[in-house]
Parts: sequence; C-alpha cells; structure tokens
Amino acid sequence: MLEIRNLHARIGDREILRGIDLTVKPGEVHAIMGPNGSGKSTLSYILAGKDDYEVTEGDILLDGESILEMEPNERATAGLFLAFQYPIEIPGVASMTFLRAALNAKRKANGEAEISTPDFMRVVKEAAGRLNISSEMLKRPVNVGFSGGEKKRNEALQMALLQPKIAILDETDSGLDIDALKVVAEAVNALRSPDRAFVVITHYQRLLDHIVPDIVHVLSAGRIVRTGGPELAHELEKNGYAAYVQDAA
Ligand code: ADP
Ligand code: MG
Ligand code: MG
Repeated sequence: MLEIRNLHARIGDREILRGIDLTVKPGEVHAIMGPNGSGKSTLSYILAGKDDYEVTEGDILLDGESILEMEPNERATAGLFLAFQYPIEIPGVASMTFLRAALNAKRKANGEAEISTPDFMRVVKEAAGRLNISSEMLKRPVNVGFSGGEKKRNEALQMALLQPKIAILDETDSGLDIDALKVVAEAVNALRSPDRAFVVITHYQRLLDHIVPDIVHVLSAGRIVRTGGPELAHELEKNGYAAYVQDAA
C-alpha cells in the first residue's frame, strides 16, 4: 500500500532523512517512535507533499505509483491522509464548510456526485458526536482558537469523514489530556480495517496503549535503526532513546 524506498531528503543544505525504507501493508498499524529532532515530522511533511523539502534520493509509492510528483491535494484524493503535529488554522472558513469541501473534492476525484445537505449533516453529526465535537465548534473557523485537544479531535473528524486508505498521524498525542487521547484513539480504532493502514508517529509510548500497533520502528537521525513488535515501545518507555541516539552518532 505504502512503500518508502531509500528516502533521502533535505531542507536547505541540511540532510534530515538519510535513507528510510518502510513498507506498510493494508490493515497494518505501524508506529514510528524516536527522539526529538530525529526527522519524524519531516517524514510526515514529505509524505503530505509540503514544498520546503527536497527529496534527493529514493521514492514513495502509494499502491505501486510514485507520489513524489503529485500535489498535496492529489495525494489526499489518492487516499493519503495526514494529521499534523501542529494543525493549521484557517481563519474565515467554518469547520463545517471545510469538511464538506474536502469530502466533495474526494468524491469528485472518484467520479461521485456531491453529497446532499441532509446526508452530509447526518454523517458529520454522527462522527462529531463520537469525538465529542459540538455543533458550535463545527461552526467556528477551522482550528482558530481551538485548544490543543480540540484541534486533534478536529483532525480525527476529518479523517473519519474522508475514510482514507492510509492515515499518517504525527504526534496526535501531543497536547492531549488522557480523556481526549482516549477519544482520538477510539476514533482511530473505529477506522481500523483490513483495507486501511495507519502510521502513528509518536515520541511517547502512552498513545500506543490505546492504539496498539502491529509494528514499531525507531527513527534516529533520519534513519530507521530498529524495527520490532509492540514490546519495543515498552522497552523504549523504560530505557529511553539514549542507546539509539548514540547509535546514530
Ligand atoms: P521530530 O519531529 O522527530 O522532532 P523534525 O522532523 O521536526 O523532528 O526535525 C528533524 C530535524 O530537522 C531537526 O534537527 C530540526 O531542527 C530540523 N528541521 C526541521 N525543520 C526545519 C527547517 N524548516 N529548517 C531547518 N531545519 C529544520
Ligand atoms: Mg519534535
Ligand atoms: Mg515532530
């Protein structure tokens, strides 16, 4: 489904990713853990297609096709969803309007008609209800003045509506209290299915108590330096990243 091959990337003259290989199959949940500054957010930005980054080597394939030349919106309609560590604010655009536009863009790309108002209201209310998102919040501009937890729940709502093939969640747990963390984790777990995959990026093991991964990778200094099962996350929680930081150096 997602295949990252020998990915090298830089910002300016600084190489941040130094040869990442990662294969994610349908139904799998991968966790990428790593110390601060190891390149986790850089990887998610490059997957999203943010343009300050230069891929210098390697490829990223979605269902066998390179996405490197695709614009961010094309990647999204191809089924890739990114939830950012720092969700952006969109002043002047109500959440509800944004969600509907995003959903219709995807439907259009798939040759489907626009969703009717009653259908949209039904699906959005149902998904928002599960995420404790009020109708008042849906009327407010996207993420403007939202708390950290509200922003993350709002990202989870976008994901629930768009039903991506593969979702990348970058530090969804940062800024979340335990109740909000559980709500977001439940939203992810509700979407787990044999034909959908997740890459959950996190510094802390805590999130992985709620979204239990199949495979855990350690990213250090722009490379995956170790891969294991869920027990690897517990080991990291206990021993920290020191061993991997030294490895990288
Ligand atoms: P993580 O998400 O794992 O904490 P990041 O991907 O945010 O790591 O950052 C990886 C490295 O790239 C860090 O050393 C960071 O300082 C550097 N970096 C990130 N963004 C930029 C940028 N826009 N310009 C220069 N360096 C950057
Ligand atoms: Mg960081
Ligand atoms: Mg980060």
